[in-house]
Amino acid sequence: MTNFKTFIESKEKEDVSKIIAKLPKNHQKLLNGYKFKYTGGNTLHGDNEHIGYIHKDNIVVAAPWHYSRSFTTLHEIAHLVYEKLFTEELKKEWSDLFKNTIKSQIEKNPNSKDSLKQNAEEIFCMAYAATYAKHPPSTYLNEKWQDFVKYLP
Ligand SMILES: [Zn+2]
Repeated sequence: MTNFKTFIESKEKEDVSKIIAKLPKNHQKLLNGYKFKYTGGNTLHGDNEHIGYIHKDNIVVAAPWHYSRSFTTLHEIAHLVYEKLFTEELKKEWSDLFKNTIKSQIEKNPNSKDSLKQNAEEIFCMAYAATYAKHPPSTYLNEKWQDFVKYLP
């Protein structure tokens, strides 16, 4: 017998693997050897800012009420992409784009001012997640950001 919780969990796993299947192949490759672990909390234990972390071969993802599982999973994958695929030039390119666009993005989303007050890497991860998630929060939708993500190597 499957209970409701098991049903939800397998449904989430299915959604997450469907989303991963849509990522560029070399981003999918980065996930080889990693296991996803989902925790029930809104944020991670003892940490009210981070929605996930990567430790050894585990990608641990929390369940913040305002983001979907797939969004938070994509956010953590983006950290791997940033860490493993970004050259210094690419980091500079993103950080310049971030600096040139963040002000107007905050003006467009005054209610999301606090969410947008993060460093360039965190905002990159949000922009990456928003590019591939099914129902991305408008806070991180910005044509230039999504273009940058889509044309990543
Ligand atoms: Zn992060």
